[in-house]
Amino acid sequence: MTTHVFHRALKSALPCVAGGDGITLRDAEGRTYIDACGGAAVSCLGHGHPAVLEAMAAQARQAAYIHTSFFTSQAAEKLAARVAENCGGDLNHVYFVDSGSEATETALKMARQYWLERGQPQRAKVISRHFSYHGNTLGALSVSGNRWRREPYAPLLADASFIEPCFFYRHAEPGETPEAYGERAAAALEKQILELGPETVMAFIAETVVGATTGAVTPAPGYLKRVREICDRYGVLLILDEVMCGTGRTGTFLAAHAEGVAADIVTLAKGLGGGYQAIAAVVCSDKVYEGFYNGSGVFQHGLTYSAHPVACAASLAVQEVIVRDNLLANVRARGEDLTRALHGRFGNNHNVGDIRGRGLIQAIELVRDRGGKTPFDPALKLSQRIKAEAFARGLMVYPGAGCADGRAGDHILLAPPYIVTPADIEEIVSRLGEAVDAALVAVN
Ligand code: PLP
Repeated sequence: MTTHVFHRALKSALPCVAGGDGITLRDAEGRTYIDACGGAAVSCLGHGHPAVLEAMAAQARQAAYIHTSFFTSQAAEKLAARVAENCGGDLNHVYFVDSGSEATETALKMARQYWLERGQPQRAKVISRHFSYHGNTLGALSVSGNRWRREPYAPLLADASFIEPCFFYRHAEPGETPEAYGERAAAALEKQILELGPETVMAFIAETVVGATTGAVTPAPGYLKRVREICDRYGVLLILDEVMCGTGRTGTFLAAHAEGVAADIVTLAKGLGGGYQAIAAVVCSDKVYEGFYNGSGVFQHGLTYSAHPVACAASLAVQEVIVRDNLLANVRARGEDLTRALHGRFGNNHNVGDIRGRGLIQAIELVRDRGGKTPFDPALKLSQRIKAEAFARGLMVYPGAGCADGRAGDHILLAPPYIVTPADIEEIVSRLGEAVDAALVAVN
């Protein structure tokens, strides 16, 4: 056998990238692709941004790598200060890792050690939600409610418990208002805490806006506020996973800002480095930090590449450009354009049951019939077909399956870079429209 990269899909050949410019990628055959999903909701400045490239080169020239048991770097310190300021409130303490999965692992260990420091070792249980995704490593997968990702690895996963998610389109009762539904969905958390015994629960983890599993699902109004109250009542730490929806993707630095809620621990990743380097962050409140500071004074954790200086320099430059170019305003404005364009193109399509999201993380959900919200047979792999049809038309979109019942239910997630223009949005929705039409002909 020839040597090669062990890819996700072993039997399909991938085009080789040859260049990237702004929101467009080019392959070795000269074909170009508009990146309408930021890869996996990562890219926010697109490719080839000179300020980021220069910052990375300058840092690499100064010191390519340091180990955090010996040194810190200016890049890491400045980035931490900026991230903390952007998070606001008392989310002042920033721990850098390399990926979203590592951020989840780190957040869980931080929560666990916090309770050990506080002399409550019995607090070891984590509550999560069905249809959630917090990462692919075993600890992160243990608290992920994504059925098809979990099931093959189930015997290896740690014990967590799961409550219903907050997903109005799929889970609200007929006639229920979003507010009443949000209240009901949050009540499930209190019930679960009481069933487990409040003194045994260390944390509740949730994506502020659900990304990969159900596709750009925003919380019902008031839901997260009630969740915060319930966590406070029982002393449970609230971990918000903003790996995908944080760092500006919804139009505010944290998606939780729009909900008026502050977590005890927040995880950030994708947009933090915008894809220029692999970097993620776990941000914790004064309360959590002081648990460590006034306790053992040591966090029993650490990874070889934590706070990598080149990654921190790249990320700092990305975050500076976002502010300098007022890109969150563009996220909000182009997000409105995207919502309008999606409704314009798919509003009368009876196979598009829902159009949802906020800022530049939006999705369409495909259904057999709009009234009954019946999903397509998962064997048809509709979202994968749409991805392939879009790719053939030079458009990258992010498919998802399982939003209806864990297996069935297809959605397409759009998460273009923050630099998209109104013309880009038109082109994205036009190509997506053609791709959806072509895929639907094949399955209807
Ligand atoms: N958490 C959320 C909400 C995600 O969307 C993802 C990845 O898609 C992760 C965690 C895992 O991140 P990574 O793939 O960087 O490990």
